[in-house]
Amino acid sequence: MSNCLFCRIVRKEIPAAIVYEDERVLVFNDINPQAPLHALVIPKRHIASLNELSGSDDGIVGEMVRRAAAIAREKGYADRGFRTVFNTNADAGQTVFHIHLHLLAGRPLSWPPG
Ligand code: AMP
Ligand code: ZN
Repeated sequence: MSNCLFCRIVRKEIPAAIVYEDERVLVFNDINPQAPLHALVIPKRHIASLNELSGSDDGIVGEMVRRAAAIAREKGYADRGFRTVFNTNADAGQTVFHIHLHLLAGRPLSWPPG
């Protein structure tokens, strides 16, 4: 997707504070952090939202979730706790239509969310 914001970050056309990168997954800090740790875990391959997932995406989604947990652990938040969130479409506040797993940690996070 040539004009997708997160595809452009994957192609390094737009700068981002990259936390982790491999062949399939990129993790970078959210530009508007909502907690001391607020990173976004994305697949390098464009998928617009969870509504577009198919069975062949199970592997990449699993990698994203495991990578979020690994980063939380590396940064010392495994025991205190952390939150992982996918927002989908308008009611959930999705603004970028390339799936991203929010990883938030470093302060108490209220529940239910707003
Ligand atoms: P969502 O509202 O779930 O679609 O989340 C999109 C997230 O992307 C928001 O938390 C934004 O702050 C974040 N964001 C938007 N543009 C950028 C950017 N250029 N670099 C890093 N994060 C961004
Ligand atoms: Zn994209």
